[in-house]
Amino acid sequence: MKAIRRFTVRTVLPEELSALGRLAANLRWVWHAPTREVFAAVDAALWESVGRDPYRMLGEVGRERLAELRTDAAFRARLDAAAADLDAYLGEPRWYQGTDEADRPEAIAYFSAEYGLTAALPQYSGGLGILAGDHLKSASDLGVPLIGVGLLYRHGYFSQTLSREGWQLESYPEVDPQGLPITRLSGAGGAPAEVGVDLPGGERLTARVWVCRVGRVPLLLLDAVHEGNPPGLRAVTDRLYGGGGEHRLRQELLLGVGGVRAVRLYCGLAGHPRPEVFHMNEGHAGFLGLERVREYMAGEGVDGEPLGFEEAVEAARAGTVFTTHTPVPAGIDRFPRDLVRAHLAGDSPAVPGLPADRVLELGAEDYPDGDPEVFNMAVMGMRLAQRANGVSRLHGAVSRGMFQGLWPGFDPDEVPIGSVTNGVHARTWVAEEAQELAAAMVDDSAEFNRPEGWRKVVRADEGELWRMRRTLRERLVAETRARLRASWRARGASDAELGWIDGVLDPDVLTIGFARRVPSYKRLTLMLRDRDRLTRLLLHPDRPVQIVVAGKAHPADEGGKRLIQEIVRFSDRSEVRHRIVFLPDYDMDLAASLVQGSDVWLNNPLRPLEASGTSGMKSALNGGLNLSVRDGWWDEWFDGSNGWAIPTADGVSDPDRRDDLEARALYELIEDRVAPLFYDADGEGLPKRWLEMVKHTLVSLGPKVLATRMVQDYVAGYYRGAAASSRALLDGGAAGARELAAWKARVRAGWPGVRIEHVEAGGIDAGAGEPPRVGGELDLRATVLLGDLDPEDVQVEALVGRVGADDRLVAPAVAVLERTGGAQGEHRYRGSAPLTRAGSGGYTVRVLPRHPALRSAAEMGLVAVPEPHRGMEDGIVLR
Ligand SMILES: *Cc1c(COP(=O)(O)O)cnc(C)c1O
Repeated sequence: MKAIRRFTVRTVLPEELSALGRLAANLRWVWHAPTREVFAAVDAALWESVGRDPYRMLGEVGRERLAELRTDAAFRARLDAAAADLDAYLGEPRWYQGTDEADRPEAIAYFSAEYGLTAALPQYSGGLGILAGDHLKSASDLGVPLIGVGLLYRHGYFSQTLSREGWQLESYPEVDPQGLPITRLSGAGGAPAEVGVDLPGGERLTARVWVCRVGRVPLLLLDAVHEGNPPGLRAVTDRLYGGGGEHRLRQELLLGVGGVRAVRLYCGLAGHPRPEVFHMNEGHAGFLGLERVREYMAGEGVDGEPLGFEEAVEAARAGTVFTTHTPVPAGIDRFPRDLVRAHLAGDSPAVPGLPADRVLELGAEDYPDGDPEVFNMAVMGMRLAQRANGVSRLHGAVSRGMFQGLWPGFDPDEVPIGSVTNGVHARTWVAEEAQELAAAMVDDSAEFNRPEGWRKVVRADEGELWRMRRTLRERLVAETRARLRASWRARGASDAELGWIDGVLDPDVLTIGFARRVPSYKRLTLMLRDRDRLTRLLLHPDRPVQIVVAGKAHPADEGGKRLIQEIVRFSDRSEVRHRIVFLPDYDMDLAASLVQGSDVWLNNPLRPLEASGTSGMKSALNGGLNLSVRDGWWDEWFDGSNGWAIPTADGVSDPDRRDDLEARALYELIEDRVAPLFYDADGEGLPKRWLEMVKHTLVSLGPKVLATRMVQDYVAGYYRGAAASSRALLDGGAAGARELAAWKARVRAGWPGVRIEHVEAGGIDAGAGEPPRVGGELDLRATVLLGDLDPEDVQVEALVGRVGADDRLVAPAVAVLERTGGAQGEHRYRGSAPLTRAGSGGYTVRVLPRHPALRSAAEMGLVAVPEPHRGMEDGIVLR
């Protein structure tokens, strides 16, 4: 019976219990325990059997039970309290409402190809989606007026089971939107609201719009599965990251272009303020920029005359933020250029009215090593967003190197890509026991944003803390056994063969969690490098270790599936199977059990290929300790005593040898440091030094790893600036956008005429014998030819600093030179730079475009430096 189509019949709730419907329809229950308790009280057994999903629960609860509850005063009091709490949460001013109004955006639209909000809404594959989900939840908690935009996939990401031989099997259960906590957006007359995107050959892809309430944040999900689309086009939203080129391109056109149209429709219908800022969460969302350009060219959002293409690009860029999540070129979304041309430059383009060549140029890899046949979504994202960032400090640096080709002439550290380190939504990921323990010590949850709040938490009684940790470990043990039993049944084993599962894991043994997607850089099997040594660790007579592993390989990744099989086969062996377990179907529920119940969270990616990683943050908030390669977020916040850093063999180019070295370091750490600390209990059975480390972890990481901190960073560092830039260009009939586009065109045209004619440094080049002294100043003069440009168009800078190995200045000090005179295109500049360190140094002078609307001197990728041997980076010696 394969071809089952699902449908859902909704319960009709009695009037007195109608609040149940409202509570189920807003995902706040995901992070609000009292609301979940109300549902559990409806029918405890049913609650468990529907996987603690309120929406399913309401579909299955019997009428008799509802009739009983109707007259149950105690239940109704709880229900009313939960409903009142939700109303207060939705309506009251929160953090954002108390911030400075001056450049605070009215609304922000956040676009992502996936969202991990709850296991009950399987619209995510991994970290990117979980991050997007945590972003929305935290925005809601903070009162940030965000609108989320995504696609509704009929099959979400796949479910994973194992074959008898330990091979990953995939299935794609169909989700029925009627059975999900989402409602269809309807137009004025009650008909389903619809958005559309034109496709080549005159076809039109249309989508219905579903609204998912994530606390205060509406998430719009576009759904192509409806009778208005021909069957071929309904498949566009079948699977998350399913299919290749054309399928994926159409998904992204729907997300970006259809998504902006859905936002406009929603804001109109719901009376929601118009977003001033658009956030592209990874390149998948890049097409939103083109639609916004089209809008401005059609005069939408502009007082006065519609804008021309270049003007519209400026207006759109100013209000756009782009976040990149991959540290490797292979991780970037790229399409064949011809495919993009067909969709954007044919006779029925997805975004009409744009100059085709310019659109294709936006995604062109027109830099050394670029592929001319490719349209690169991240490149387009960078060009259509004035603000861009990576997701940890290290990843920001890696991204500046990776995208350097877009800003030729600038050193990587000047590439205008910043970073906001990811965070996690505490109330989603922290065990209730731990939340209660924390809440008992801290009254105001805002205190968790500061170390002081966490210092209060760690004043908790050590015995209590340790008991809480054991409770969570014990729960993981029980959960592991249940899941392992189900997995073995699916692998064809009978109950009679599975008696041993009752002895799998031990609630008093040091538990290491290791769960992630299985791309090769995450090295799922590094721990298997020396199987005998791992076996000895697992079976140590006094200090044993147990490991729970989970992870999905991409369906097309045979190599990843082989790695899973290796782990499964090892953990199937009878001598170790009670100490190492692979659990299939890693999802948010399993992730929560693992991060809550593990004492140690292991992560051993190939540095620096983990952009951020977030699972270790979840573990830390639950009192787990990180044991990780210094990559992503851990590179930034490991402080020497809040966990352990696995030393990396960064310079070793032979991957086998590198794995050997890093695996050995991992075994040594577990043997010599981790296990002895865990088992070093005092007379009362408390491992004092371990608990000290847990407390230090909470104080040092607690305030940092929160997604509320992350969202606040985006508001302060990106959204506000984008709103200010956008207003500056759009106010007064978009005069700013018109002027900026004209200015850029003039500067670009005139730039070849900009030349540095002459540079000299007083006291050095004049041969005045006496070298300059530390604490003094270097007097610099330059003569610059500006051709057709005016002095107001440029900035002339001197850079002074140490000369690095590659003949570049290392982190130079920058001094702006003042114009002292000149005419007819030839201008004299003078200024001084402080000399702060002794030793040999160098200086150079450069000319950059200058305009108040530029955010970074590198923004236009234009720079003029002296021609070689004309004074560039002359050596100076400081005493
Ligand atoms: C947190 C989480 C991730 C991301 O974890 P990483 O640290 O990036 O590996 C992936 N999948 C699920 C289900 C998660 O909960």
